[in-house]
Amino acid sequence: MRRPIVAGNWKMHLGRVDEALAFVRRIRYQLNGIEGVDKVLCPPFTVLAAVAEVIRPTRIGLGAQTMHWEDQGAYTGEVSPAMLAGLCQYVILGHSERRTGRVAFPDQTAEAVVESDAAVNHKVHAALAHGLIPIICVGEKLEQREANKTEEVVEIQVEGAFKDLNDQEAEKTVVAYEPVWAIGTGRTATPQQANEVHLFVRKLLSSKFGKECSEKINVLYGGSVKPENSKELLEMPEIDGALVGGASLDAESFEKIVRSVIEF
Ligand code: PEP
Repeated sequence: MRRPIVAGNWKMHLGRVDEALAFVRRIRYQLNGIEGVDKVLCPPFTVLAAVAEVIRPTRIGLGAQTMHWEDQGAYTGEVSPAMLAGLCQYVILGHSERRTGRVAFPDQTAEAVVESDAAVNHKVHAALAHGLIPIICVGEKLEQREANKTEEVVEIQVEGAFKDLNDQEAEKTVVAYEPVWAIGTGRTATPQQANEVHLFVRKLLSSKFGKECSEKINVLYGGSVKPENSKELLEMPEIDGALVGGASLDAESFEKIVRSVIEF
């Protein structure tokens, strides 16, 4: 049985120590008291250590939002797996805001891929080697869904991310299906649309690593998850939790989403 996970991706918010601590102090005990689901906070790098300190007495997990694959080197501004190991347990990899030009092109028009499947794969290997659980994001853009290319796109991303992993490594990963058109847009995939892709991901993983291994991998849904839609998404059989962006910045909303996992 997979234990559900709800992870909050704070993105580039609450990155000052005072604001991050005020937020975490408000929610840590309520969150910690919710049984049967793993809760994970993924704040900006600047506050990881401070948040780690405050949640230490709880069972709340901590994750980073990205990392490099090398342990050290001439990579200005990057953070390595060696720096994160011991500080957090999870790391989000291949988020669509990093895969596409959003972090590199202010005009948002560029279609360039900034974080490639090969980079994601290197990062997945590095995360596992350092005992970090990678939350591997995959998902199609709107035009790809409209052209019926969702499965093709997701397959390429899954194949890329899991390249050269063995079963023991694969079962330590988490996948997040995040349709790009649903991220931060208020538009959510219907529970059926999401479940279909989750099932497709599970079948892909099963064909690569076998049924037993694939059954151990949590596949989270992400894309405008909020208290109003979380229950119907999370009760779908193939949806093992949520990666929550915007709504994770609101203490009450995040708590409600976490609670909705165990309400059915
Ligand atoms: C995300 O950033 O992973 C995400 C799903 O964002 P949002 O919930 O705001 O759509």
